[in-house]
Amino acid sequence: MRIVLLGAPGSGKGTQSQRLVERHGVPQISTGDLLRAAVKAGTPLGVHAKAIMDAGKLVDDATMLGIIRERLGQPDARKGFILDGFPRTIAQAEGLARLLGELGTPLDAVVLMDVDYGKLIKRISGRRSCTNCGRVFNIHTAPPPAEGCCAAAHLVQRPDDKEETVAKRLQVYDEQTKPLVAHYSAQGLLRMIDADAEMEEVTQRLEAALAERTGEGILVEEAPRA
Ligand code: AMP
Repeated sequence: MRIVLLGAPGSGKGTQSQRLVERHGVPQISTGDLLRAAVKAGTPLGVHAKAIMDAGKLVDDATMLGIIRERLGQPDARKGFILDGFPRTIAQAEGLARLLGELGTPLDAVVLMDVDYGKLIKRISGRRSCTNCGRVFNIHTAPPPAEGCCAAAHLVQRPDDKEETVAKRLQVYDEQTKPLVAHYSAQGLLRMIDADAEMEEVTQRLEAALAERTGEGILVEEAPRA
């Protein structure tokens, strides 16, 4: 299974990716998570990316393609992957296609998760992540457990989920990422789902859209022997 989850910030790409990881055993590759880890670790990449992320803008394409090239080269990505938050521009999509062409492993599907913008803002404002394990919750729609690793005391809001940055991120999505819908549609790879529903219902719709792409579902492939 090699798929891209496409959608505006807050459309549920991260949550649904986590569920697909459990169901299909392929890794979630979230470029936002990779960048946040670099910021936390204080690496040169993190230092470069922090101000851009805090402003709700996009990190440059060459940097992002470098990150993806390295991540897709890791052994766990051989059996497939769920790309979450990448590609975000046409140049990134073209770079990804070149890279996957070199590897001989083209995408199976791109699923657009469609949610009304008004609802996105509410979803984003409720988003919290666990500082211990990184799991993401929503205080309105997917609350964390009362006790244990992900209890309220360990939850934080992302700096770029603050209201003033969210509007900028939606504008950037409209201008730079939405053109990918037509791009992947023209290649016959795109499926769209209404992602404005309960988490389990959205997972069902996502699985149905993925199954539709191949007629009988996308199977997890054996990793090639080294
Ligand atoms: P996300 O967690 O996917 O919402 O990403 C958080 C932030 O990381 C974005 O607002 C961008 O600043 C940056 N980012 C993540 N993925 C990309 C990408 N593919 N291209 C450029 N910037 C990205």
